[in-house]
Amino acid sequence: MSKVEAELLALHGGPPVTVEKFPDAWLGPAEIGEEEIAAVTGVLRSRKIFRFLHEGDASYCNRLEKLFSERTGCEYSLAVGGGTAALICGLVGLGVGEGDEVIIPGHTYIASASAVLIVGAVPVLTEIDSSLNMDPDEIENRITSRTRAIMPVHMRGVPCRMEGILEVARKHGLKVIEDAAQACGGSYKGRPLGSFGEVGCFSLQQYKIITSGEGGVVVTRDKEVFDRAAIRHDSAMCYWKPEGSSVRPFAGENFRMNEMEGALGVVQFGRLDGILATLRSLKKRIVEPLAEIEEIQLQDVPDPEGECAVQAAFFTKDPETARLFAEALRAEGIPAGSIYDKGIPDRHVFPFWEYVMEKGSSDRHGRPWTSPLHDPNRRYHSAMLPRTLDLLGRAVVLQLSQVFEDRHADWIVEAVKKVARGVL
Ligand SMILES: *Cc1c(COP(=O)(O)O)cnc(C)c1O
Repeated sequence: MSKVEAELLALHGGPPVTVEKFPDAWLGPAEIGEEEIAAVTGVLRSRKIFRFLHEGDASYCNRLEKLFSERTGCEYSLAVGGGTAALICGLVGLGVGEGDEVIIPGHTYIASASAVLIVGAVPVLTEIDSSLNMDPDEIENRITSRTRAIMPVHMRGVPCRMEGILEVARKHGLKVIEDAAQACGGSYKGRPLGSFGEVGCFSLQQYKIITSGEGGVVVTRDKEVFDRAAIRHDSAMCYWKPEGSSVRPFAGENFRMNEMEGALGVVQFGRLDGILATLRSLKKRIVEPLAEIEEIQLQDVPDPEGECAVQAAFFTKDPETARLFAEALRAEGIPAGSIYDKGIPDRHVFPFWEYVMEKGSSDRHGRPWTSPLHDPNRRYHSAMLPRTLDLLGRAVVLQLSQVFEDRHADWIVEAVKKVARGVL
């Protein structure tokens, strides 16, 4: 094969970089093995699925909470039924509710916005920067008399610039609730993600770094915040637990984690650092050579040592190029995608959050939007965060997996170089 032939993009009929299919297996679920099976079946054999039938370390849910407390250095942890439930309990823990505003980035999973609405508050959307996370410099001009909290989201395992966010929060007396659903085990400048704000929230759903099937964890250093979160997570808990609480009873729901989920979560937690180490070295092998390609600009990762490295992303010059670039990579045999494409609804991009954009509600009064406590003039539209859409539109994302081997990383590099020469 001549050099010219090898250089012809697979998209244009040339030979692809690889015909071997990349493994589908990904993150925590790929690691499920005998240990997980033994732990979960052990719970079944005990016939006690409800967590509060087990005391102390005999409860997997208790053990999972302890693991998260140790990891984050936050004394109090609460295992719940999911990441969204963790955010709801965290917001309730902070006392956020009707009439309050919470600042969230325009690039996050829709669940971040949903949790804010469910507690009766409204989300105020803010711009991201080239890290694809909340831009600390954009927060201040979105603060109003109703703002109560800022919710940084460590998207795609990349840490937010927390010092800037905390500075704005402290200056204005706002609470910080971190959505670390996609960044379990990550850190920023040596400090664990989830431990910067008053509250940190994790998800252990199937698509996150480790999984309990469904599940989430709230961490905090504040006993009262924890008590309030715990009360919200069980409709009658306030009558027997948390012991010695000074919080007056209020309504809760059922966000409890069960022991089968706890068991799966505890075993998976043991795999977390191994998964992260493999992902980080794989990503290093990919981004170092990509940094030399002039036609693309790598996503800015504030702390590569601490990030979770579940993906690698870069920007092209315009959205049309990004779409074409991703298509050309797929033709070369490389799993790749663009993030914001007007034709493809992706609930990680704010214009596709219809129930925010159109102020959807479950009740006939249209709450919480119509509450007299909220600003009636607050509007949402897809042009409100131009920089966010520009960045997301120009981004190409490569999903990484700890089961990839060096050859997969090398194919990715080869294909990106080839496409950069061919498309741009
Ligand atoms: C997955 C996710 C959630 C919600 O977690 P669930 O466990 O699915 O409820 C919240 N925020 C972000 C950023 C997520 O990725």
